[in-house]
Amino acid sequence: MCASPVSRVEQLPLTQLKGVGPALAARLATLGLHTVLDLLFHLPLRYQDRTRVTPIGALRPGLDVVIEGMIAGSAVVFGKRRSLLVKVQDGSGITALRFFHFSAAQRAALQNGTRIRCFGEVRWGRGGLELNHPEYQLLQLDAPLPMAEHLTPLYPATEGLQQARLRKLLEQVLERLQETHSLPDLLPPALCRQERFLPLLDALRVLHAPPPDVSLSQLDQGLHPAQLRLVFEELLANYLSLRRLRDRAQAQAAPALPAAGALQQRLLAQLPFGLTGAQQRVAREIAGDLAKPVPMLRLVQGDVGSGKTLVAVLAALQAIECGQQVALMAPTEILAEQHFLTLDQWLAPLGLRLAFLSGKIKGRRRHDVLQSLAGGDTDLIIGTHALFQQEVQFCRLALVIIDEQHRFGVHQRLSLRDKGGQSGLWPHQLIMTATPIPRTLTMSAYADLDCSIIDELPPGRTPVNTALISAQRRLDVVARIEAACASGRQAYWVCTLIDESEVLECQAAEATFAELQQALPALRIGLIHGRMKPAQKAAVMAAFKQHELQLLVATTVIEVGVDVPNASLMVIENPERLGLAQLHQLRGRVGRGPQESHCLLLYQSPLSETGRLRLGLMRESSDGFFIAEQDLKIRGPGEILGTRQTGLMSFRIADLTRDAHLQPTVKDWAERIRADHPQLVEPLIRRWLADAEQYGNV
Ligand code: ADP
Ligand code: MG
Repeated sequence: MCASPVSRVEQLPLTQLKGVGPALAARLATLGLHTVLDLLFHLPLRYQDRTRVTPIGALRPGLDVVIEGMIAGSAVVFGKRRSLLVKVQDGSGITALRFFHFSAAQRAALQNGTRIRCFGEVRWGRGGLELNHPEYQLLQLDAPLPMAEHLTPLYPATEGLQQARLRKLLEQVLERLQETHSLPDLLPPALCRQERFLPLLDALRVLHAPPPDVSLSQLDQGLHPAQLRLVFEELLANYLSLRRLRDRAQAQAAPALPAAGALQQRLLAQLPFGLTGAQQRVAREIAGDLAKPVPMLRLVQGDVGSGKTLVAVLAALQAIECGQQVALMAPTEILAEQHFLTLDQWLAPLGLRLAFLSGKIKGRRRHDVLQSLAGGDTDLIIGTHALFQQEVQFCRLALVIIDEQHRFGVHQRLSLRDKGGQSGLWPHQLIMTATPIPRTLTMSAYADLDCSIIDELPPGRTPVNTALISAQRRLDVVARIEAACASGRQAYWVCTLIDESEVLECQAAEATFAELQQALPALRIGLIHGRMKPAQKAAVMAAFKQHELQLLVATTVIEVGVDVPNASLMVIENPERLGLAQLHQLRGRVGRGPQESHCLLLYQSPLSETGRLRLGLMRESSDGFFIAEQDLKIRGPGEILGTRQTGLMSFRIADLTRDAHLQPTVKDWAERIRADHPQLVEPLIRRWLADAEQYGNV
């Protein structure tokens, strides 16, 4: 490990500061503040301007102001609530302070003729403008009180930790860093010149103690150069850490899989279609990776229905032909089951041995699956998170395929790597996303991966017509279902999350199921949701696939992977509650056959302005990449990466929605730093990623 130029001061625990004892340290810790650096990066939520006095005549409701004047009368008044009303006058006008809580001593001190300075929010009161419970100081005539020199920061705080405490601590820290010159700049001078960045300490001073003339609206929007300076450095550190992860992975050995492609040929010969050009290209990229003795780390993106599964299976066959094992992991039970059914159909004729594992497989069956896997009698295992568990041992795992990656975080990605087990070899990894991810997000979240894009749909797909229909016209929609099913088509009715609760969602599906059975007695209707037993779900899916069922009422469990080409009509209830990427994914379940397909978005009116905008986008566009870009703008990255669950991608200062546009420049500079200033990489990562070490050293 090289000597690090990261200064000691920034790493100091806060207990080293003057006035921070164990009790205060504990409160700071609840805000995630442990070191001096944590404190420096604890940026204000907003600011107050206490640098100037506003004439009373110029008060406007809603403003936070400092006023100064003479007390011109005070009285306890009895309205709805008893309050102390104090008149204050300056040369420009008169206003009132109102206190609902006050002591006798306080009241006595607020004497006629006393000069007073107050800070508070102006609002309409009964007799005109007033300040409720302002902060105030009484002034001595001969001792003028200085005004604040800077805007006053308001920090995210917590119970028992006052703003003033935080301000004092930050003053202390900034002063100390200034005196000791001990907050080194880690960005190369050429970068700072090109981007016109302030030195780090100056940027922090601007943000913690802004000069009076700073642009508050720029600060509010996160567009102030001082903010950009910090955001840039954080995104840079994040990118560098992912790249370093990748370097470390690439320094490992993996089993080289130089297959001739006999199994692949046999599979393709038995399929009724050929690969699209895009599938061929991506399959070639993967095959090239697998032939090398270093672990593949590849992300495959493709729109819904672009045929990612087949590409993954071709990769699996390359490994299996070399006598190795493959694990395919899906985020939900139902998707894992679907994959199992499809792949078993494709691969059993080739004599391959497939197995299925999920948390719900128990007892004897589980034992058998595990044993055959460890003994090398299984070629390909398909399953859920259950594949991560310790007791799951492979004999010679060479390739891990993760489908619908957006539900998994970096940490999980890493823990699967440990499963290789065989004589220090790492498995190759292929990651497939369910929905396209905007390019800028890919750079922030997946910089450790190579990326392949399947940018072509199989021929013969018809675009899905999407319509917005108010829930008030539910009966019309039911009639359309009836007509579609009467003409031999099949349909989905999707009940979405009413609340953040799977139970409620399932209940909604059950109620809708009962309602539709009543309304459409002639139809064969099925129900599927996440709380049914795997065998039940599998039976329902099989019945729908074989057209024994005409209408399938479902929760969003069918979001990913379900594939029934004859289904050409989908109704989605409450679409306004879903992310666009998720809607697009759901809609991708239809439009898989030759007939014209429809998706009806049955919204609750009235729609909000953004609701209208978002659903309008769904109607206008069927391009998953475009929709994902829009979703990023409207709902933020958590929606797309599924990180609300995994806690991945939480930044200290950067906000991927707001700051994504910086990412291309960040990436360029990161590569230059890796090449020209490699000694900066480690300190940058250490400064910004507190838990970097945790997964940096795999
Ligand atoms: P996704 O990319 O959304 O995971 P799938 O892999 O589920 O898509 O593929 C969707 C459907 O398209 C499946 O029925 C699959 O068999 C079919 N398919 C895949 N590749 C082709 C192709 N080249 N030509 C025609 N159909 C294809
Ligand atoms: Mg898929």
